[in-house]
Amino acid sequence: MLGQLPYVLCGLAAFVALLANNSRYMGTALLMLMGFWLIRTYLQAPLDTEPAGQVFGLISLGLPILLGTLAILPNTGWRHMGVLILIAFISIFALIVASLFQWHPLWFAKLLPELHQSTFFGLKISSSASLLFVAVFIASLAIPFLKQEILDTSLPGCIAFSFITLAWFQTSHISATMFSLSGLLLIINQTHSLLNMVYRDELTQIPNRRALLRDIRNTGNHYALAMVDVDHFKKINDQHGHDLGDQVLRAIASKLNQVSGGGKAYRFGGEEFCILFRGRTQEQVLDHLETLRQTISEYDMTARDRKNRPWVQNKGEKKRGASRRKGDIRATVSMGVADSTIALDFNIVLKKADEAMYRAKQGGRNQIKQA
Ligand code: GH3
Ligand code: MG
Ligand code: MG
Repeated sequence: MLGQLPYVLCGLAAFVALLANNSRYMGTALLMLMGFWLIRTYLQAPLDTEPAGQVFGLISLGLPILLGTLAILPNTGWRHMGVLILIAFISIFALIVASLFQWHPLWFAKLLPELHQSTFFGLKISSSASLLFVAVFIASLAIPFLKQEILDTSLPGCIAFSFITLAWFQTSHISATMFSLSGLLLIINQTHSLLNMVYRDELTQIPNRRALLRDIRNTGNHYALAMVDVDHFKKINDQHGHDLGDQVLRAIASKLNQVSGGGKAYRFGGEEFCILFRGRTQEQVLDHLETLRQTISEYDMTARDRKNRPWVQNKGEKKRGASRRKGDIRATVSMGVADSTIALDFNIVLKKADEAMYRAKQGGRNQIKQA
């Protein structure tokens, strides 16, 4: 049973990656599948017999090199050329190992005897392969950091699990356990990143409307809800362009995300946001919303044109009264707040908050109205 588990878990991880069109997960899952297949097929004999020792040596160099290639390759769809080349690499590598085992060419017997004889700190793996693993492990952590990407633990995790397998190869069930853990890690990380896509707004990186409906189901019947709408946002888009409008939305979302009083911000859609305060009434959250409204209205952004890509920058807060230059953007928001004492049905509370928000618009914008 345990011997088949890595095939099931890594196979499932590859299948999910195929559906999600994610090349890095796909490549990692395929490499782990290939690694495990080679171990199960060719390394069941003692390592001091030929050619098991040489195959072991080749795997301990091939696996980190191929996993390292994945860390460097851009994470594109799996139909991308880079991935096809990687799959070709994997197949060629597996074929070479398999054919060496079948044919036993003379030169193979003499090939790199240090691969299986020399040990590093008493481990089964050779010193050169150990150093290679360490270098690739560090690179898999450093590259996402340098590219300012969110670190995904899949690649470093699989590199570490492969190393542990090869270093303590004589331990019983080590390869089945470590390669199962790799498959599990790939599945968990993919599930996590897919859930992130489902519940997080792509543009502003704050939770979306779907997340609000999910959270409401777990909130019980004691909460306050604020509707927030950016004032005259269409004008900002018309004057500065849609790209800059996007950046203003991002800046406002990040302010909303820092709301005090235990509120959680969501992008409801377009230039509309919601803030949910669990266990509060509308009276209890008014001060927090007022602070937020003021912070946003005093937040100066400058329109810049950097290599024809407009961007906005915080010019420093609380500059009220300071002279404003052409290109300065200052956005305000109108808010309406309601709470669960009004109705049991969330949709009614939402509607009341929305109506209050429209009264704030009619009242001259940049203000808060209660339901
Ligand atoms: P009001 O003060 O009455 O709310 O006026 P408004 O202009 O903010 O309201 P309106 O609903 O007329 O316009 C909203 C605009 O928001 C229209 C739409 O193009 C823009 N918008 C919606 N989503 C996005 C987005 O993701 N990015 C950008 N740049 N604009 C968006
Ligand atoms: Mg609107
Ligand atoms: Mg608006």
